Amino acid sequence: MNAFKDHCRQTLGSIREQGRYRVFTPLRKRADGFPYYARPDGSRVLVWSSNDYLAMGGHPVPVNAACEAARSMGAGAGGTRNISGTSPVHDDLEAELASLHGKQAGLLFTSGYVSNQATLAAILNSLPNGPAHPFHVFSDAKNHASMIAGIKGSRAVVHIFRHNDVGHLETLLRAAPPGAPKLIAFESVYSMDADIAPIGAICDVAEKYDAMTYLDEVHAVGMYGPNGGGVSERDGVAHRVHIIEGTLAKAFGCHGGYIAGDTEIVDFIRCTAPGFIFTTSLPPMVAAAALASVRHVRSDHARRTKLFERASALKARFDAAGLPRIDSVSHIVPLHVGDATLCMQVSQRLLNEFAMYATPINYPTVARGEERLRFTPGPLHTDAMMDELVQALTAIIPLERRQAA
Ligand SMILES: *Cc1c(COP(=O)(O)O)cnc(C)c1O
Repeated sequence: MNAFKDHCRQTLGSIREQGRYRVFTPLRKRADGFPYYARPDGSRVLVWSSNDYLAMGGHPVPVNAACEAARSMGAGAGGTRNISGTSPVHDDLEAELASLHGKQAGLLFTSGYVSNQATLAAILNSLPNGPAHPFHVFSDAKNHASMIAGIKGSRAVVHIFRHNDVGHLETLLRAAPPGAPKLIAFESVYSMDADIAPIGAICDVAEKYDAMTYLDEVHAVGMYGPNGGGVSERDGVAHRVHIIEGTLAKAFGCHGGYIAGDTEIVDFIRCTAPGFIFTTSLPPMVAAAALASVRHVRSDHARRTKLFERASALKARFDAAGLPRIDSVSHIVPLHVGDATLCMQVSQRLLNEFAMYATPINYPTVARGEERLRFTPGPLHTDAMMDELVQALTAIIPLERRQAA
Protein backbone atom coordinates (compact mmCIF):
# COMPACT_ATOMS: atom_id res chain seq x y z
CA MET A 1 0.00 0.00 0.00
CA ASN A 2 2.71 2.50 0.97
CA ALA A 3 4.84 1.35 -1.94
CA PHE A 4 1.92 1.95 -4.25
CA LYS A 5 1.30 5.41 -2.83
CA ASP A 6 5.00 6.22 -3.39
CA HIS A 7 4.56 5.08 -6.96
CA CYS A 8 1.53 7.37 -7.37
CA ARG A 9 3.44 10.36 -5.96
CA GLN A 10 6.46 9.76 -8.19
CA THR A 11 4.36 9.30 -11.31
CA LEU A 12 2.35 12.43 -10.57
CA GLY A 13 5.60 14.33 -10.01
CA SER A 14 6.92 13.40 -13.41
CA ILE A 15 3.54 14.16 -15.04
CA ARG A 16 3.72 17.63 -13.45
CA GLU A 17 7.28 18.17 -14.68
CA GLN A 18 6.19 17.38 -18.21
CA GLY A 19 3.37 19.91 -17.97
CA ARG A 20 0.83 17.11 -18.34
CA TYR A 21 -0.81 17.32 -14.92
CA ARG A 22 -4.56 17.55 -15.43
CA VAL A 23 -6.23 20.48 -13.75
CA PHE A 24 -9.97 20.78 -14.20
CA THR A 25 -11.43 24.24 -14.56
CA PRO A 26 -14.74 24.43 -12.71
CA LEU A 27 -17.21 26.05 -15.10
CA ARG A 28 -20.95 25.96 -14.65
CA LYS A 29 -22.73 25.48 -17.95
CA ARG A 30 -25.70 27.79 -18.41
CA ALA A 31 -28.55 26.52 -20.53
CA ASP A 32 -29.69 30.02 -21.49
CA GLY A 33 -26.32 31.77 -21.73
CA PHE A 34 -24.29 29.31 -23.83
CA PRO A 35 -21.43 29.65 -24.88
CA TYR A 36 -20.95 31.76 -21.74
CA TYR A 37 -20.37 29.64 -18.63
CA ALA A 38 -20.13 30.83 -15.01
CA ARG A 39 -17.10 30.52 -12.73
CA PRO A 40 -17.61 29.62 -9.07
CA ASP A 41 -17.49 33.34 -8.17
CA GLY A 42 -20.32 34.02 -10.61
CA SER A 43 -18.21 35.79 -13.26
CA ARG A 44 -18.79 34.68 -16.83
CA VAL A 45 -16.38 32.89 -19.14
CA LEU A 46 -16.67 32.61 -22.91
CA VAL A 47 -16.06 28.95 -23.76
CA TRP A 48 -14.42 28.04 -27.08
CA SER A 49 -13.94 24.33 -26.68
CA SER A 50 -17.24 22.70 -25.89
CA ASN A 51 -18.22 19.56 -27.79
CA ASP A 52 -21.81 20.80 -27.58
CA TYR A 53 -21.10 21.72 -31.20
CA LEU A 54 -24.61 22.74 -32.21
CA ALA A 55 -25.55 24.37 -28.89
CA MET A 56 -28.31 21.78 -28.40
CA GLY A 57 -27.46 21.14 -24.73
CA GLY A 58 -29.43 24.16 -23.57
CA HIS A 59 -31.98 24.18 -26.38
CA PRO A 60 -35.59 24.18 -25.11
CA VAL A 61 -36.54 21.11 -27.17
CA PRO A 62 -34.29 18.58 -25.35
CA VAL A 63 -34.43 20.49 -22.04
CA ASN A 64 -38.24 20.39 -21.94
CA ALA A 65 -38.26 16.74 -23.03
CA ALA A 66 -35.86 15.89 -20.17
CA CYS A 67 -37.93 17.78 -17.59
CA GLU A 68 -41.19 16.17 -18.66
CA ALA A 69 -39.64 12.71 -18.74
CA ALA A 70 -38.05 13.19 -15.30
CA ARG A 71 -41.41 14.20 -13.85
CA SER A 72 -43.25 11.29 -15.40
CA MET A 73 -40.59 8.54 -15.32
CA GLY A 74 -38.19 9.66 -12.61
CA ALA A 75 -34.48 10.34 -12.51
CA GLY A 76 -32.97 6.92 -13.18
CA ALA A 77 -33.78 3.82 -15.22
CA GLY A 78 -33.58 1.49 -12.23
CA GLY A 79 -32.12 -1.46 -14.09
CA THR A 80 -30.27 -2.85 -17.06
CA ARG A 81 -32.19 -3.12 -20.32
CA ASN A 82 -33.05 -6.69 -19.32
CA ILE A 83 -34.07 -5.80 -15.75
CA SER A 84 -36.96 -3.40 -16.45
CA GLY A 85 -34.58 -0.76 -17.85
CA THR A 86 -36.23 -0.64 -21.29
CA SER A 87 -38.79 2.13 -21.72
CA PRO A 88 -40.65 2.97 -24.94
CA VAL A 89 -38.30 5.96 -25.17
CA HIS A 90 -35.25 3.67 -25.39
CA ASP A 91 -36.87 1.71 -28.21
CA ASP A 92 -37.98 4.85 -30.05
CA LEU A 93 -34.51 6.36 -29.78
CA GLU A 94 -32.89 3.22 -31.21
CA ALA A 95 -35.34 3.25 -34.12
CA GLU A 96 -34.65 6.96 -34.71
CA LEU A 97 -30.87 6.41 -34.78
CA ALA A 98 -31.16 3.44 -37.15
CA SER A 99 -33.27 5.62 -39.45
CA LEU A 100 -30.79 8.52 -39.18
CA HIS A 101 -28.09 6.28 -40.67
CA GLY A 102 -30.33 4.29 -43.03
CA LYS A 103 -29.66 1.11 -41.06
CA GLN A 104 -31.91 -1.75 -39.97
CA ALA A 105 -31.23 -1.51 -36.23
CA GLY A 106 -29.71 0.66 -33.53
CA LEU A 107 -28.45 -0.07 -30.03
CA LEU A 108 -27.92 2.38 -27.15
CA PHE A 109 -25.00 2.39 -24.72
CA THR A 110 -24.33 4.51 -21.66
CA SER A 111 -21.66 6.48 -23.53
CA GLY A 112 -19.85 6.65 -26.82
CA TYR A 113 -16.77 5.28 -25.09
CA VAL A 114 -18.68 2.22 -23.92
CA SER A 115 -20.27 1.68 -27.34
CA ASN A 116 -16.84 1.49 -28.99
CA GLN A 117 -15.19 -0.60 -26.32
CA ALA A 118 -18.07 -3.05 -25.90
CA THR A 119 -18.91 -3.48 -29.58
CA LEU A 120 -15.37 -3.91 -30.84
CA ALA A 121 -14.46 -6.35 -28.06
CA ALA A 122 -17.59 -8.44 -28.72
CA ILE A 123 -16.97 -8.62 -32.47
CA LEU A 124 -13.23 -9.24 -32.24
CA ASN A 125 -13.58 -11.97 -29.62
CA SER A 126 -16.02 -13.86 -31.83
CA LEU A 127 -14.71 -16.60 -34.12
CA PRO A 128 -16.99 -16.79 -37.18
CA ASN A 129 -14.42 -18.89 -39.11
CA GLY A 130 -13.44 -21.15 -36.21
CA PRO A 131 -10.70 -21.04 -33.56
CA ALA A 132 -7.91 -21.34 -36.14
CA HIS A 133 -8.93 -18.04 -37.72
CA PRO A 134 -9.10 -15.20 -35.21
CA PHE A 135 -10.24 -11.75 -36.36
CA HIS A 136 -7.67 -9.46 -37.92
CA VAL A 137 -8.41 -5.84 -37.07
CA PHE A 138 -7.04 -2.90 -39.06
CA SER A 139 -7.05 0.21 -36.92
CA ASP A 140 -6.22 3.78 -37.94
CA ALA A 141 -3.14 5.06 -36.04
CA LYS A 142 -5.13 7.99 -34.65
CA ASN A 143 -8.15 6.08 -33.43
CA HIS A 144 -9.76 7.21 -30.18
CA ALA A 145 -8.82 5.55 -26.86
CA SER A 146 -12.28 3.93 -26.64
CA MET A 147 -11.74 1.96 -29.86
CA ILE A 148 -8.23 1.02 -28.75
CA ALA A 149 -9.67 -0.25 -25.46
CA GLY A 150 -12.01 -2.62 -27.33
CA ILE A 151 -9.28 -3.75 -29.72
CA LYS A 152 -6.54 -4.26 -27.12
CA GLY A 153 -8.80 -6.22 -24.82
CA SER A 154 -9.64 -8.72 -27.56
CA ARG A 155 -8.00 -11.82 -29.02
CA ALA A 156 -7.75 -10.25 -32.49
CA VAL A 157 -4.52 -9.86 -34.44
CA VAL A 158 -3.95 -6.10 -34.57
CA HIS A 159 -2.65 -4.12 -37.56
CA ILE A 160 -2.24 -0.34 -37.29
CA PHE A 161 -2.43 1.58 -40.57
CA ARG A 162 -0.95 5.04 -41.01
CA HIS A 163 -3.52 7.73 -40.38
CA ASN A 164 -5.99 8.03 -43.30
CA ASP A 165 -3.51 6.14 -45.54
CA VAL A 166 -5.59 3.83 -47.76
CA GLY A 167 -2.50 2.56 -49.59
CA HIS A 168 -0.96 1.39 -46.33
CA LEU A 169 -4.27 -0.15 -45.26
CA GLU A 170 -4.43 -2.12 -48.51
CA THR A 171 -0.84 -3.37 -48.07
CA LEU A 172 -1.74 -4.72 -44.64
CA LEU A 173 -5.02 -6.28 -45.87
CA ARG A 174 -3.22 -7.98 -48.75
CA ALA A 175 -0.65 -9.51 -46.38
CA ALA A 176 -3.25 -10.90 -43.95
CA PRO A 177 -4.50 -14.51 -44.28
CA PRO A 178 -7.28 -14.59 -46.89
CA GLY A 179 -9.46 -16.91 -44.79
CA ALA A 180 -9.36 -14.75 -41.64
CA PRO A 181 -12.34 -12.54 -40.72
CA LYS A 182 -11.31 -8.88 -41.01
CA LEU A 183 -12.55 -5.60 -39.61
CA ILE A 184 -11.40 -2.05 -40.37
CA ALA A 185 -11.94 0.42 -37.51
CA PHE A 186 -11.69 4.14 -38.17
CA GLU A 187 -13.25 7.55 -37.53
CA SER A 188 -14.78 10.07 -39.94
CA VAL A 189 -13.82 13.43 -38.37
CA TYR A 190 -10.66 13.22 -36.25
CA SER A 191 -11.22 15.89 -33.66
CA MET A 192 -7.61 16.57 -32.71
CA ASP A 193 -6.32 16.89 -36.29
CA ALA A 194 -9.56 18.29 -37.73
CA ASP A 195 -9.21 16.08 -40.81
CA ILE A 196 -11.65 13.60 -42.38
CA ALA A 197 -11.21 9.98 -43.48
CA PRO A 198 -11.68 8.95 -47.13
CA ILE A 199 -14.61 6.70 -46.23
CA GLY A 200 -15.50 5.68 -49.80
CA ALA A 201 -11.90 4.66 -50.61
CA ILE A 202 -11.69 2.68 -47.37
CA CYS A 203 -14.94 0.89 -48.31
CA ASP A 204 -13.43 0.10 -51.74
CA VAL A 205 -10.49 -1.80 -50.21
CA ALA A 206 -12.74 -3.30 -47.54
CA GLU A 207 -14.95 -4.81 -50.26
CA LYS A 208 -11.92 -5.98 -52.25
CA TYR A 209 -10.56 -7.94 -49.24
CA ASP A 210 -13.94 -8.88 -47.77
CA ALA A 211 -13.41 -6.86 -44.58
CA MET A 212 -16.13 -5.39 -42.36
CA THR A 213 -16.08 -1.65 -41.70
CA TYR A 214 -16.61 0.02 -38.31
CA LEU A 215 -16.87 3.80 -38.40
CA ASP A 216 -16.82 6.16 -35.41
CA GLU A 217 -18.85 9.23 -36.46
CA VAL A 218 -18.83 10.79 -32.99
CA HIS A 219 -17.53 14.16 -34.22
CA ALA A 220 -19.78 14.21 -37.27
CA VAL A 221 -23.28 13.04 -36.32
CA GLY A 222 -25.79 15.86 -36.29
CA MET A 223 -23.46 18.10 -38.29
CA TYR A 224 -22.39 16.48 -41.56
CA GLY A 225 -24.69 15.22 -44.30
CA PRO A 226 -28.00 16.78 -45.40
CA ASN A 227 -29.80 15.37 -42.31
CA GLY A 228 -26.92 15.14 -39.86
CA GLY A 229 -26.26 11.46 -40.60
CA GLY A 230 -22.51 12.14 -40.54
CA VAL A 231 -19.77 12.20 -43.16
CA SER A 232 -20.94 8.79 -44.42
CA GLU A 233 -24.27 10.43 -45.31
CA ARG A 234 -22.55 13.48 -46.82
CA ASP A 235 -20.38 11.24 -49.02
CA GLY A 236 -23.29 8.94 -49.96
CA VAL A 237 -21.51 5.86 -48.57
CA ALA A 238 -23.44 5.08 -45.36
CA HIS A 239 -24.92 1.93 -46.94
CA ARG A 240 -21.38 0.62 -47.52
CA VAL A 241 -20.31 0.98 -43.87
CA HIS A 242 -21.32 -2.06 -41.80
CA ILE A 243 -21.40 -0.46 -38.36
CA ILE A 244 -21.74 3.26 -37.66
CA GLU A 245 -21.05 4.38 -34.10
CA GLY A 246 -22.03 7.74 -32.66
CA THR A 247 -22.61 9.73 -29.51
CA LEU A 248 -25.60 11.64 -28.17
CA ALA A 249 -23.25 13.73 -26.03
CA LYS A 250 -21.61 16.03 -28.57
CA ALA A 251 -23.63 17.68 -31.37
CA PHE A 252 -26.89 16.28 -29.93
CA GLY A 253 -26.04 17.95 -26.61
CA CYS A 254 -27.25 15.11 -24.32
CA HIS A 255 -25.61 11.87 -23.24
CA GLY A 256 -25.16 8.27 -24.40
CA GLY A 257 -23.63 6.32 -27.26
CA TYR A 258 -24.94 3.99 -29.95
CA ILE A 259 -24.25 1.75 -32.90
CA ALA A 260 -26.35 1.25 -36.03
CA GLY A 261 -26.12 -1.61 -38.51
CA ASP A 262 -27.73 -4.77 -39.85
CA THR A 263 -30.18 -6.54 -37.56
CA GLU A 264 -28.11 -9.71 -37.07
CA ILE A 265 -25.01 -7.79 -36.06
CA VAL A 266 -26.78 -5.38 -33.70
CA ASP A 267 -28.77 -8.23 -32.15
CA PHE A 268 -25.54 -10.19 -31.66
CA ILE A 269 -23.97 -7.27 -29.76
CA ARG A 270 -27.18 -6.84 -27.73
CA CYS A 271 -27.02 -10.48 -26.62
CA THR A 272 -23.25 -10.88 -26.11
CA ALA A 273 -21.47 -7.62 -25.18
CA PRO A 274 -20.94 -7.35 -21.39
CA GLY A 275 -20.58 -3.56 -21.66
CA PHE A 276 -24.14 -3.45 -22.96
CA ILE A 277 -25.74 -6.20 -20.87
CA PHE A 278 -24.41 -5.59 -17.36
CA THR A 279 -24.99 -1.90 -16.83
CA THR A 280 -28.03 0.19 -15.98
CA SER A 281 -29.61 1.68 -19.07
CA LEU A 282 -29.62 5.40 -19.81
CA PRO A 283 -32.05 7.33 -17.59
CA PRO A 284 -35.33 7.72 -19.51
CA MET A 285 -35.07 11.49 -19.11
CA VAL A 286 -31.75 11.41 -20.95
CA ALA A 287 -33.11 9.13 -23.66
CA ALA A 288 -36.14 11.42 -24.04
CA ALA A 289 -33.94 14.50 -24.33
CA ALA A 290 -31.71 12.77 -26.88
CA LEU A 291 -34.69 11.59 -28.93
CA ALA A 292 -36.11 15.11 -29.03
CA SER A 293 -32.69 16.51 -29.95
CA VAL A 294 -32.02 14.01 -32.75
CA ARG A 295 -35.48 14.63 -34.24
CA HIS A 296 -34.96 18.38 -34.06
CA VAL A 297 -31.42 18.37 -35.45
CA ARG A 298 -32.32 16.14 -38.41
CA SER A 299 -34.60 18.84 -39.78
CA ASP A 300 -32.78 21.95 -38.50
CA HIS A 301 -30.65 22.43 -41.61
CA ALA A 302 -29.99 26.10 -40.79
CA ARG A 303 -28.17 25.06 -37.61
CA ARG A 304 -25.71 22.94 -39.60
CA THR A 305 -25.17 25.72 -42.14
CA LYS A 306 -24.51 28.19 -39.34
CA LEU A 307 -21.95 25.89 -37.68
CA PHE A 308 -19.84 25.70 -40.84
CA GLU A 309 -20.19 29.41 -41.56
CA ARG A 310 -18.97 30.18 -38.01
CA ALA A 311 -16.00 27.79 -38.36
CA SER A 312 -14.98 29.48 -41.64
CA ALA A 313 -15.30 32.89 -40.02
CA LEU A 314 -12.93 31.94 -37.19
CA LYS A 315 -10.43 30.31 -39.57
CA ALA A 316 -10.39 33.50 -41.69
CA ARG A 317 -9.78 35.66 -38.63
CA PHE A 318 -6.91 33.46 -37.41
CA ASP A 319 -5.32 33.60 -40.87
CA ALA A 320 -5.67 37.37 -41.11
CA ALA A 321 -4.00 37.75 -37.70
CA GLY A 322 -1.13 35.40 -38.63
CA LEU A 323 -2.11 32.90 -35.94
CA PRO A 324 -0.59 29.48 -36.77
CA ARG A 325 -3.75 27.56 -37.50
CA ILE A 326 -3.50 23.85 -38.25
CA ASP A 327 -5.16 22.99 -41.57
CA SER A 328 -8.75 21.90 -41.05
CA VAL A 329 -11.37 20.52 -43.43
CA SER A 330 -13.85 20.23 -40.58
CA HIS A 331 -15.71 22.43 -38.10
CA ILE A 332 -12.80 22.19 -35.62
CA VAL A 333 -10.18 24.96 -35.54
CA PRO A 334 -6.87 23.88 -33.96
CA LEU A 335 -4.11 26.39 -33.25
CA HIS A 336 -0.51 25.15 -33.19
CA VAL A 337 1.53 25.90 -30.03
CA GLY A 338 4.15 23.13 -30.09
CA ASP A 339 5.16 23.18 -26.42
CA ALA A 340 3.30 21.66 -23.46
CA THR A 341 4.14 24.36 -20.92
CA LEU A 342 3.44 27.23 -23.30
CA CYS A 343 0.17 25.56 -24.29
CA MET A 344 -0.97 25.44 -20.68
CA GLN A 345 0.18 29.03 -20.14
CA VAL A 346 -1.73 30.37 -23.14
CA SER A 347 -4.86 28.59 -21.95
CA GLN A 348 -4.43 29.91 -18.39
CA ARG A 349 -3.83 33.49 -19.51
CA LEU A 350 -6.87 33.34 -21.78
CA LEU A 351 -8.89 32.37 -18.75
CA ASN A 352 -7.35 34.62 -16.12
CA GLU A 353 -6.83 37.77 -18.16
CA PHE A 354 -9.51 37.54 -20.83
CA ALA A 355 -12.25 35.35 -19.29
CA MET A 356 -12.17 32.90 -22.20
CA TYR A 357 -11.59 29.18 -22.14
CA ALA A 358 -9.93 26.92 -24.72
CA THR A 359 -8.62 23.46 -23.89
CA PRO A 360 -4.87 22.87 -24.11
CA ILE A 361 -4.25 19.60 -25.95
CA ASN A 362 -1.01 17.97 -24.86
CA TYR A 363 0.77 14.60 -25.01
CA PRO A 364 -0.44 11.83 -24.98
CA THR A 365 -3.55 13.10 -26.78
CA VAL A 366 -1.24 14.48 -29.49
CA ALA A 367 2.48 13.80 -30.14
CA ARG A 368 5.08 15.93 -28.35
CA GLY A 369 5.85 19.05 -30.38
CA GLU A 370 2.29 19.07 -31.72
CA GLU A 371 0.69 20.64 -28.64
CA ARG A 372 -2.24 22.82 -29.60
CA LEU A 373 -5.30 24.71 -28.51
CA ARG A 374 -8.54 23.43 -29.93
CA PHE A 375 -11.38 25.81 -30.79
CA THR A 376 -14.88 24.66 -31.61
CA PRO A 377 -16.90 27.70 -32.64
CA GLY A 378 -20.62 26.99 -32.85
CA PRO A 379 -23.82 28.63 -34.06
CA LEU A 380 -23.89 30.99 -31.05
CA HIS A 381 -20.34 32.36 -31.32
CA THR A 382 -20.73 35.87 -32.75
CA ASP A 383 -18.34 37.99 -34.83
CA ALA A 384 -17.74 40.21 -31.80
CA MET A 385 -16.75 37.19 -29.68
CA MET A 386 -14.33 36.10 -32.40
CA ASP A 387 -12.75 39.55 -32.60
CA GLU A 388 -12.30 39.51 -28.84
CA LEU A 389 -10.65 36.07 -29.02
CA VAL A 390 -8.22 37.07 -31.78
CA GLN A 391 -7.22 40.20 -29.85
CA ALA A 392 -6.53 38.12 -26.75
CA LEU A 393 -4.52 35.48 -28.62
CA THR A 394 -2.37 38.03 -30.43
CA ALA A 395 -1.67 39.69 -27.08
CA ILE A 396 -0.68 36.39 -25.46
CA ILE A 397 1.15 34.43 -28.16
CA PRO A 398 4.63 35.91 -28.78
CA LEU A 399 5.05 37.53 -32.20
CA GLU A 400 7.95 35.23 -33.16
CA ARG A 401 5.72 32.18 -32.58
CA ARG A 402 3.15 33.63 -34.92
CA GLN A 403 5.66 34.54 -37.63
CA ALA A 404 7.39 31.14 -37.42
CA ALA A 405 4.20 29.45 -38.52
C1 LIG B 1 -15.73 11.65 -27.33
C2 LIG B 1 -15.38 10.49 -28.20
C3 LIG B 1 -15.90 9.22 -27.96
C4 LIG B 1 -16.66 8.92 -26.70
O1 LIG B 1 -17.94 9.45 -26.72
P1 LIG B 1 -18.63 9.77 -25.29
O2 LIG B 1 -20.07 9.77 -25.61
O3 LIG B 1 -18.08 11.09 -24.85
O4 LIG B 1 -18.23 8.68 -24.36
C5 LIG B 1 -15.70 8.22 -28.88
N1 LIG B 1 -14.97 8.44 -30.00
C6 LIG B 1 -14.40 9.63 -30.24
C7 LIG B 1 -13.60 9.81 -31.47
C8 LIG B 1 -14.57 10.69 -29.34
O5 LIG B 1 -13.96 11.85 -29.55
